Amino acid sequence: MEEGQYFVDATLVCVDCGRSFQWTCGEQSYFFSKGLRPPKRCLECREPRRRTLRKSPEVSG
Ligand SMILES: [Zn+2]
Repeated sequence: MEEGQYFVDATLVCVDCGRSFQWTCGEQSYFFSKGLRPPKRCLECREPRRRTLRKSPEVSG
């Protein structure tokens, strides 16, 4: 990585809804510092996924 590298807002395409969304420079630096790959889904598509994880606390059995 070059020293003094900086990020600029990038436009990515969501694999779920096909819409383009903004990947901010702040997020990019966070992703790169964590060694993560660029996000594939927009925030709108990522949110419901987290919600579905929190279903009603029904316990089977
Ligand atoms: Zn989406």
